[in-house]
Amino acid sequence: MNLEKAYASNHFRTLGHQMVDLLADYLEQLPEQKVLHVQPPEELYEQWSERLEQGPHPEISWLKSLLRQTVQVPHPHYMGHQISPPVPLSALMSLVDGLVNNGMGVYEMGQAGTVIERLVVKHVAKQMGFTDTADGVLTSGGSLGNLTALLTARSRTEVWEKGSQSQLALMVSEEAHYCVSRAVKIMGWGSEGIIKVPVDQQYRMKTELLAPYLQKAREAGKKVIAVVGSACSTSTGSFDNLEEIAAFCKQNDLWFHVDAAHGGGLCFSSRHKQLLNGIEQADSVVMDFHKMLLTPSVATALIYKNGADSYRAFQTKAEYLWEKEAEQEWHNLAKRTFECTKLMMGLKVYSILQYYGPSLWEEYLDKVMENGQILAQIIEEHPEFELATWPSCNIVCFRYVEKNQEASVLNQWNTALRKSMLQDGTFYIVQTTLDGKVYLRTTLTNPFTTARHIGEMVNMLTNLIPDIKRAEGFNSEAN
Ligand SMILES: *Cc1c(COP(=O)(O)O)cnc(C)c1O
Repeated sequence: MNLEKAYASNHFRTLGHQMVDLLADYLEQLPEQKVLHVQPPEELYEQWSERLEQGPHPEISWLKSLLRQTVQVPHPHYMGHQISPPVPLSALMSLVDGLVNNGMGVYEMGQAGTVIERLVVKHVAKQMGFTDTADGVLTSGGSLGNLTALLTARSRTEVWEKGSQSQLALMVSEEAHYCVSRAVKIMGWGSEGIIKVPVDQQYRMKTELLAPYLQKAREAGKKVIAVVGSACSTSTGSFDNLEEIAAFCKQNDLWFHVDAAHGGGLCFSSRHKQLLNGIEQADSVVMDFHKMLLTPSVATALIYKNGADSYRAFQTKAEYLWEKEAEQEWHNLAKRTFECTKLMMGLKVYSILQYYGPSLWEEYLDKVMENGQILAQIIEEHPEFELATWPSCNIVCFRYVEKNQEASVLNQWNTALRKSMLQDGTFYIVQTTLDGKVYLRTTLTNPFTTARHIGEMVNMLTNLIPDIKRAEGFNSEAN
């Protein structure tokens, strides 16, 4: 019987040992590997379908190919998108989660997972400066967390039962993550529903514009119900002044939401937590553990200053799940999340807290924050590169510049630089566009990235410049 074999505990034991050995080998050999080996998607598709067409074959050595075809997040040369290398212990908890497969929607479908989730949420809330009345849930990613928080803000209106009566809107910095716009569109407020507040030279919301923008929106007949602060913004890692936004929201009776998907973890660093001053006044906060707190993705905290608010986003009926619809039962999690079934996310966080304590996060955070400063210093002193702005965290944007060169040419060159880096695969960096200018973008997310690695990355870029210019020169002549 195939099923019996597939589920046999000794079969799991053998496979498990093989897999852990394979993964440990992968970690061991990382430093000698490229961080990324880009291949055309069609080619890979072909390769993987061929393997499947050969029919079932009881071995897992193909995992080696899989690992080679991943972007190597735990590699010290990984400096790309904002995801942290998971602590291996926490990654192993993903396996536990997968095997026990508790649904987590109602208490009996994940007892330990449910109480652990609450502990983790309360722990983070306290660290951010909230009182005991704060409460919340874990959810699948910052994007969904932000949508859920904004639905809660909206629940102050009559929309949930009666549909939209007026043009609702929120205010957010123009540098906010795209998921905020998306949430507004999902809620049916349209483009009119998002009021983008301009940013200053450090890409922080110009909070002095909140009052005139609110005035203007009201004159246009809009009902503004919330302000979203970014802590930090995604592109440049800029922290909005949360204290000023908090004061403004209080004065005008607006919901104050903080998108701290990236930077919220800094509450665990005594050296850097002042970047989050004012966060404790937010009505709701979103924070990703997979960005700066070393868990596998996805694991996101959605915290409410007033815990009772966490029951308001989804006031829906699901009587087959719980007996008492109206009651605020913290232990029946699906009352408060978009998900019905979800991962046992708290376990991945709890394991870190329990085994290493929060000092592991602090050590990590201080290291990667320092790396941001090291790269900024190198760029500042480099004759050919310029910073977008001095970085506030481990996200650093910079670009190649040349005096009297046209903006479009500089954009082409920087785009080509990033493309060359990608093709080469020695380092992984990404790019962004700010005010129409293309920048190279890095998130220094690996605690084992050293000043030497950072210097080598910049050197590599510098060495690529002559080739880029030559190639681009030919291209424009050919055109
Ligand atoms: C990463 C990020 C998000 C999106 O979070 P996911 O977990 O990727 O869904 C939202 N907002 C900000 C500011 C982010 O940095």
